[in-house]
Amino acid sequence: MTFPRRIGNDPAATLPREGIALLASGSHGNAALVYSGSAGMLIDCGLSAKQVRLRIAAAGLSHVRIEAIVLTHEHADHVAGVRVLARHLGVPVLATGGTLRTLRDDLTDVPETDAIRAGHAVRLAGLTLLPFRSSHDAAEPVGFRIEFPSARVLGYLSDSGVVAAECTEALAGCHVLAIESNHDVGMLECGPYPPFLKRRIRSAVGHLSNDDAAAALVGLAHDGLSTVVGLHLSETNNTPLAALAALTAARDRLGLRFAVAAALQHAPLVCAAGAL
Ligand SMILES: [Zn+2]
Ligand SMILES: [Zn+2]
Repeated sequence: MTFPRRIGNDPAATLPREGIALLASGSHGNAALVYSGSAGMLIDCGLSAKQVRLRIAAAGLSHVRIEAIVLTHEHADHVAGVRVLARHLGVPVLATGGTLRTLRDDLTDVPETDAIRAGHAVRLAGLTLLPFRSSHDAAEPVGFRIEFPSARVLGYLSDSGVVAAECTEALAGCHVLAIESNHDVGMLECGPYPPFLKRRIRSAVGHLSNDDAAAALVGLAHDGLSTVVGLHLSETNNTPLAALAALTAARDRLGLRFAVAAALQHAPLVCAAGAL
């Protein structure tokens, strides 16, 4: 694993006090640690429990106590390690009713499961978590709006075929925006995937392209936005450079100055919640 990259923290390279560590992002596993001080929650756990611990250590965040695991949806790249990690840490797993029903057999012996609902905020690890409906071929997928104690706000949307009005509303005014930037449309169309899979990815319940993420910025960017991170980049149908180029071009068209980064599959990225 390469040394973790950081964005939005101060030049002295101290770890940001509040932020999100994207431990892994992509079709081979997703997990992100959202934290404030020494408490935090994990969004998704598509890595082994061991890998989650290793990556948190590599990000310099071993002091953060994970108080809960929240799930966006039930696909394996988001939940493969959840049972083992929840049992190991002794923490609850939170997900929508549809996600919990789909995972029922996998979560029988975790310490606790709690249902969350789109539009209903919950308090966890000192953070306020508001789930909102996303658009994906899963039982009841959601994205999250998360407010830190400092009142800074993080938006998190991965695995969504479109950015529906409901998402735009929930993500309005975010200071840090982590949004799926799964594929370059040209690379997907010319790439090796079979036609049915290409159709699925491009459908309204598939994945956001670089252009989709860039287009979403038009409705979501504002003067207070400090960082945008592309999520779930395909290793077959995208490159970090292509994703960054699309997001950067959108930023420049908007005349704004927020930082742009891409989360990767194999190296953590720590992103400060605070202003740059
Ligand atoms: Zn996924
Ligand atoms: Zn998915």
